[in-house]
Amino acid sequence: MNKITIYRGSHQIGGCVTEIRTQGHRIVIDFGENLPGSKTDGVMTNEELLDTVFGGDPCDGVLFTHYHGDHMGIYKKIPRNIPLYIGPTAKKILTILTEKVDLSTRTTDKGLPRIQSMHTYRPGRKLHAFGDIEVTPFIVDHSALDAYMFLIEIAGKRILFTGDFREHGIAGKNDTLEKMVKAYIGRVDILITEGTMLSRLGEARQNPIRTEEDLGKRARELFRTNRESVILVSSTNLDSIMEYYHALPWGMDFVCDAYQAKLILTAMEDKGKYYPRYRPEMIHGKPRRIYIVGEMEGLGAAQNCYKADFSILKNKGFTMLAREDNSRFASIMAKFLDPLIIYSKWKGYLKGEHMKPAIKEFIGDHRWEIVHTSGHAYVETIRKLICLTEPKVIIPMHTECADQFDRIPEFAPYKDKIHVLKDGEPYCL
Ligand SMILES: [Zn+2]
Repeated sequence: MNKITIYRGSHQIGGCVTEIRTQGHRIVIDFGENLPGSKTDGVMTNEELLDTVFGGDPCDGVLFTHYHGDHMGIYKKIPRNIPLYIGPTAKKILTILTEKVDLSTRTTDKGLPRIQSMHTYRPGRKLHAFGDIEVTPFIVDHSALDAYMFLIEIAGKRILFTGDFREHGIAGKNDTLEKMVKAYIGRVDILITEGTMLSRLGEARQNPIRTEEDLGKRARELFRTNRESVILVSSTNLDSIMEYYHALPWGMDFVCDAYQAKLILTAMEDKGKYYPRYRPEMIHGKPRRIYIVGEMEGLGAAQNCYKADFSILKNKGFTMLAREDNSRFASIMAKFLDPLIIYSKWKGYLKGEHMKPAIKEFIGDHRWEIVHTSGHAYVETIRKLICLTEPKVIIPMHTECADQFDRIPEFAPYKDKIHVLKDGEPYCL
């Protein structure tokens, strides 16, 4: 019997693990860590998960949709004989990220060799490595660069597994999602869709920044009136970083550390050919310089990177990318006159059960403003995908609202197709 089982993520955001199984083959999609602060009652622990998913039958491979920790955070624990798959740019970004993590932690269990051994898939190229389970990855817009949804075909049945997606970032511009689904995917039997935003409807309605483009527009206004600003943004949220980079007036300078610069340069190299937003800002015919705080880590003029000297930068005005968990940024910022902090992360980290005290501490008494857009699909985008794919069955996941899915007015016409699974409960194809 062919089956889909969501082991984790049927009723929560993050910690995602899904298995697709036929008589003789088995693949796993994502192997994520639970998000910090998540309610874990009734949710499998990592140990239980490893035992359940990898303790018995052989597995043909684990496919990651993208590099966020809640989708791949426990990759190191996957048995070494099982091949891992990820997008090509996502692998490069993970390599930079893991080098940093390996260096800063004293653990002997280094992640880099595992990342380097990952296979890469290509958008639109069908993978035939999993017996009678055929998987075709398609690139999607998300706050992680190089994210994919998977079309899975088993014995004539077509399943679309969205992973995390949206269409209001850089890769989603010009109706890319609609064009891609119409051209390459078409109708499916089962749609397994993320529903992160269903528990954040009010938040989405109140936020004047709907798209990454809106974020860039607001940033431009803020840069014009603030000669010194510091942006708290995830270093791997490259869509937002590129918007800030381009929004900065020509007379001002862009500052970050070597780690962030390596991520930006990799993203530009791989994605610049597809998206103009991922190309360098050309100033009088030359690419904008990137000024580096801390070690240069091998970067230099060849990469258009230069050592930051704030005695000069202060005269021109600048913006600096920062991380709240790195004391380097706070100590540099202490020397600024009256910097504006641009908070460009999820609002949920500021208070409530997901609060990160380091962020509050970093902001302190500085002037600050939230400039952020979600990495996830709005209800309208999910409805659009349902209309385009006309699934017979819709399985929600990566949501705190799976049981309320059929009560969302936009989904009312599809009420009878919605099938909510529990963690570990198989769905027979
Ligand atoms: Zn994600």
